[in-house]
Formats: sequence, structure tokens, C-alpha cells
Amino acid sequence: MTGKITLRDLAAIDVEVLKGVGEKRKAALAEYGINNVLELLTNYPRKWVDRTNEARVSDLVAGQEALVIVEVRKVSKFTTKNRKTIVNVQVGDESGRLTAVFFNQPWRERQLKVGSQVAMFGKPDLYRGVLQMSNPLVDLIGDRTGRIVPIYPQSEKVQVSTWELATWVENALERCRERGISDPLPSDLLERLELADRTSALWSIHFPDSMVAKQNARRRLAFDELLRVQVVLVGRKRAFELDNTGIRHKVGGKLQQRFIAALPFAITSAQQRVINEIDGDLAAPHPMHRLLQGDVGSGKTVVAVSAMLAAVQGRHQGALMAPTEVLAEQHFAGVKKLLEGLLVPDDDNLFGDRQLRVELLTSRITSERRRELLRDLANGGIDILIGTHALIQDGVEFASLGVVVIDEQHRFGVEQRAALRNKGSNSVKGAKAETYVATSPDVLVMTATPIPRTAAMTVYGDLDVSVLDEMPPGRTPIKTAWVAGEKSESKMWSEVRDAIAQGQQTFVVCPLIEESDKLQVASAEDTFKLLAKTELKGLKLGLLHGRMSSNEKDETMTKFRDRQLDVLVATTVIEVGVDVPNATCMIVLDADRFGIAQLHQLRGRVGRGVIASRCWLVTSNPEVSSPRVDALVESTDGFYLAEVDLELRGEGTIMNTAQKGRSDLKLASLRRDRDLIELARAAATEIIATDPTLKIHKEIRDEIDLLLTPDEEEFLFKN
Ligand code: ADP
Ligand code: MG
Repeated sequence: MTGKITLRDLAAIDVEVLKGVGEKRKAALAEYGINNVLELLTNYPRKWVDRTNEARVSDLVAGQEALVIVEVRKVSKFTTKNRKTIVNVQVGDESGRLTAVFFNQPWRERQLKVGSQVAMFGKPDLYRGVLQMSNPLVDLIGDRTGRIVPIYPQSEKVQVSTWELATWVENALERCRERGISDPLPSDLLERLELADRTSALWSIHFPDSMVAKQNARRRLAFDELLRVQVVLVGRKRAFELDNTGIRHKVGGKLQQRFIAALPFAITSAQQRVINEIDGDLAAPHPMHRLLQGDVGSGKTVVAVSAMLAAVQGRHQGALMAPTEVLAEQHFAGVKKLLEGLLVPDDDNLFGDRQLRVELLTSRITSERRRELLRDLANGGIDILIGTHALIQDGVEFASLGVVVIDEQHRFGVEQRAALRNKGSNSVKGAKAETYVATSPDVLVMTATPIPRTAAMTVYGDLDVSVLDEMPPGRTPIKTAWVAGEKSESKMWSEVRDAIAQGQQTFVVCPLIEESDKLQVASAEDTFKLLAKTELKGLKLGLLHGRMSSNEKDETMTKFRDRQLDVLVATTVIEVGVDVPNATCMIVLDADRFGIAQLHQLRGRVGRGVIASRCWLVTSNPEVSSPRVDALVESTDGFYLAEVDLELRGEGTIMNTAQKGRSDLKLASLRRDRDLIELARAAATEIIATDPTLKIHKEIRDEIDLLLTPDEEEFLFKN
């Protein structure tokens, strides 16, 4: 091998070449998960102990937490009368001695060998005249010198010590010195982004001279991880654009203008901005692939309709796909109303303008009517089609599908998105003869579950993202309260009864039971029965849950919408999109069981009319507040809540996976590394712009192949 050492080279070097790694150590390392030098070097320390922060034993003060580095002197284990094991460990440094006591951790006896050096963190107490720490945090540090000592992840089962790991890492890095470790990033980029070079980053992450050096090392190595992901995402996006011919829509034409002018309100500046962003994509030669994030009520429909009208203007068609029949019907009614009386400018028509035709297609529409719709869709007689996934079934042929809008994206998989896109490969109706052109429609995906911008870059990295971050004016904010305890609960019910007496309606969301659908239904039924007998006695109650047939559900929803019901007791099936302006009260029982995003979605079911709405989040214990409930009481801003959610839960939940696709994200965090994500995204965009297939940036391509399995690349795309 010649030239600088690449990650692939490192991955090809077995750990057995390292000093002190024989058969036995090799097997232990394999069990730990390290087989080659790359795995060893990217097994980063879990933490670093700064020895300058350590106290001497003689400095310890009872009741004050401190870190000491001590030697293990004596270990004894015994069992108490009620069969608890206690491991008693005598430790000390040159200044004094200390006792550590571990309860029910019998394995400590094996872990803490006499003579070993350990870092111990805890709160000492005076016990029979001697300082003692109970269950302190302990890290074995061996006899490593140096100011900052790396502590590697350790497990009870695998017997590889942190100082063995440190020694092997050091040995490996030493042996790389001569040839040098190659750096795939050009030095001008490193300079511009103030990133450390790879060799010094690898040294400093394991053996930093200072905490600042460690921080810089981490920053560089995390950047590499993020860059690989972003290059994949941006590369895919670019490939999609290059592979697919889109329609150059005529944007900003008369039809869109008429539509905006005819709205009974002025569009918000956010709506205008997003419409412009979308128009930019629609006019471009490659197909749009854009995500529209906007809180419930931010006015996404107007934006979606504007996009579809751009297609109609050019004699193409628009399609809007919703996740459920109820929502499709709701969209149909809403869109129809928005487009009422709108005329399409038509130069071919002797009579000038023509009527715009909007239709609904769901699985409930059958036989004669369905055949008629399909025929008119295929001959271009329908301008906009709204429906469920019935839209992507075989046999649904568009004359020329120009723009596809998909609402509530998390309910649809990528396959469905792709299926709709493929519907576009049809003949384009021209003024002259029919010409067959394979084109892909422009796709707009809408979601009301906002996630922070940088997280969106990773999760939806193959899409462009637009954000509606401004609410239409004149809305009365929803008042939210935390309710716990009998007194405040009964006050809540009496307020709800008052609202109902004034003709308003109420949602009651039942306690969430995630483990079992069956129990969930039982919980809803119990709540329903109980309320009908007690707090909501004499009122008209309806029940809605996931085990009901879609006909039953729709029937109940329709009744509620038509005000034949005062109260809808429901599970989270009402989460998405249901629009009943007269419903002003939302009660969520056992609210602390729900996630922030879910609570926010649920609350969004009210506050849709002119009357001020209220939301009560009920929990059982008045003594214990829930940070999630607190966040909802504090704010109605979906993006703010998404940030809080990310803080509270970490990124795992946003990535929606435990390991898949994340094996290469060892250091980087969607939460902490927002600036790095932006930098990585920008760098990836730059790289892909000049080198879309990574012919020049061979080493980055190679590292992606090495570190992300095709499966993982696929995952990143799919999620
Ligand atoms: P979303 O789908 O984002 O939840 P909608 O598109 O359903 O929101 O809009 C919610 C309501 O706000 C609708 O009644 C819509 O007519 C109204 N609306 C939309 N844009 C505006 C605006 N700029 N000014 C006033 N009302 C608006
Ligand atoms: Mg909507």
C-alpha cells in the first residue's frame, strides 16, 4: 500500500497487528464490537476526565459532590440479612483514604481490582468518622498519564478495559504516522469552515491536550459524519432532477392571479413567499420535489391550490391526495369553495373562459360515477382531482398530471409518492397533435407536523423545504391549561358544560394506551360510558375509535360536524385534519402520556372558528408537572414546540429508528449540532453542484460506500 492511509485501508487492518492483541484479546475486542483499526479509532471515548479538575481525598467535604482519582486498595463483598449484596471498596490517594459502598452491584468486586486507578465521582458523607461515597460513578482509568484521560464505553460483560483501548488506539495512531492519514476534504474548505484536519482530530478526540482541543476534534469528526449523509441526500435529489424531465409550468398567469384576487382575505406574506418559492420550482425544467411545513391553520390549502392552478393554466391537471376519506372529502369541500366561480382563461374556446372542474375520487365512489370520472380524467375534462390513495390505483389515468399535492406526508410512504409521480408519464395535450413526452409531475408534500429546520434537512434531505411560519391574522389564540386534581377537574367540566349550553362542541381525547389497540378501544369505551353517566350526563355524546369501520367513523364525524352531537369522545383518530369550526373545547385525558407533537396536533382540532377556544390537558398528579404539558401551556407555536420536543426526546425519535441509518452518526447530534448540519448541507450542495456523481471527490464517495450500507442510504431517502 502506498499513499496516505484511507478509512478503507484502516478498515482492512485487523486488530491483531496491534501490540498486545493476541488470540484472547482479539476475541474480547470482537465481542466488544471492534474487529479492525477503523472500528477501534471510531470507538470514541464516552467522556474525558480532566485530571486538573480532580480533588485530592484530603480536600473532600462531606455533602459536596466531587471527582477524585484514587487507587483501589481493598475490596470486600458481603450479603445482608435481607439478601442485599454490598461491595465495600477502600480507596485512597497520597493525601488520604475514602470508602466507596456499592449496593446490589456484585460485579463491582470483579471490576475494581486492587491496585487499579479509578476516577470516582459522588457525594461523600461522614460515616463512623470516615468519608464514604455511596454508589459513586466510577471509571477505570488505568495508569494513563496526561492531563485528560479518555474513558471508553464499557460494559460489564465484555472484559476490555478502557486503558487497554486507549493503549491500542495510541499504538494504532502511532503506526499511521509514517504514511499519514488521508483527508478527503480539501484544505481550503477546512480553512473556510475552521475545521481541524483529520489526523489531528483523531489524535485529539482520543488524547486531547485540552477540552477545547477535544471540542474541535469532535466538531471535525461530527462534520464528516453529517457531510456523508448530506452528500447522499443532496446527491439523490440532484439525480432525481437530472433523471426526470419536468413540465415548465407557466406560473403567475391569469388563473393564479384571479384566484388570489378572489380570496375573501389577503394572503399572508408567508403564503406569498412560499407561493413564489413553489412558482420558481414549477417554472423550472426539472420536477419539483418540495416539502411544505406549516402549522395547523397556517393556510397551506391556498398555497396548494395556487400550485395546482399553475398546472391547470397550462392545460395540465392537479391532484391532491389526503390520507383518509374524511380528509379527502373535507379538502374537496374546502377547495371547491375556494374555487367557486373561478373561470379558466381559454384562448381555444370561442366563448372565452371556461369553468374549472374539481372532482372527488375515493374508494366509496363506485360503478357508473367512477367510470365517468375516470373517463373525464383521462380526456382532460377534469382539472383538479382530490382523493385518497384511490388516486394512485391502477386504472386511474390522467390526461396530463402536472402538479401533485400530498397532504400529511407521514401517512404516506415513499412508494406511494413515487406511484403518484409516475402517473405523470403521459401524453401532454398540446394545441397541435398529441406528442408523447415522458414527464414527471411536480410534487408538493404538505405536513402539519413541523420539525426544526436542521432536523428537516436530515430527515427530509431529499426535498426542498418551504415553511409557512406566519398565522393568518384575526385568530383568537387557544387558551391552554394544565388540569390536575379533583377540584380543577370539576371546574373544567362545568366550564365545558357552559360552552355546550351556548351551542359549542367539545372533543374529549381518551387516555392513550400504546401497547394495545384493544385496550385503547376499551379505554375509549369506558371513558365514554363514564362521562355519559357523570360529568356529561344528559348531553349528546358520540364515540370514535380506530376499531370502528370507516363507514361508522364517517357517520359519527358527520353527525358531529352537523351538530347532532355535543361531545365527541375519541382516541387519537381525530388527530389529523378534522375541521369542525364550532368545536371550541378540547380535553385531553392523561395528557402526560402523549408526545408534544401529538398534543399539538390534537389541540389544533379546535381554534378553527371565530369563538375563542380552550384546551385542557388533564394529568392525574397535581404534584408532578410534565415538561411536555408545560410546553403546550406555554406556547401554541408548532416550531417552538418542535424544538422543545427535540430537546426533550433527543433525535432518535425524529429519525424514527434505533440503529438503522445511524450507525455512522456516532458523534453528530441533530439536536446539538445544528450549525454543523447547515455547514454540511452547504458543503454537500457545493460538492454535488460541480461533481454530481462524485467522480472528483472519489474518497468521499468511497467513505459513503464504506460507512453507509445501501440499506442505510435507502433509509435516509425513505424516511
Ligand atoms: P392548514 O391546512 O394549513 O391547516 P388551511 O389551509 O385549512 O390551513 O386554512 C385554515 C383556515 O384559514 C381556512 O379557513 C382558510 O380559509 C383560512 N385562511 C387561509 N389563509 C388565510 C389568510 N391569509 N387570511 C385569513 N384566513 C386565511
Ligand atoms: Mg389542512
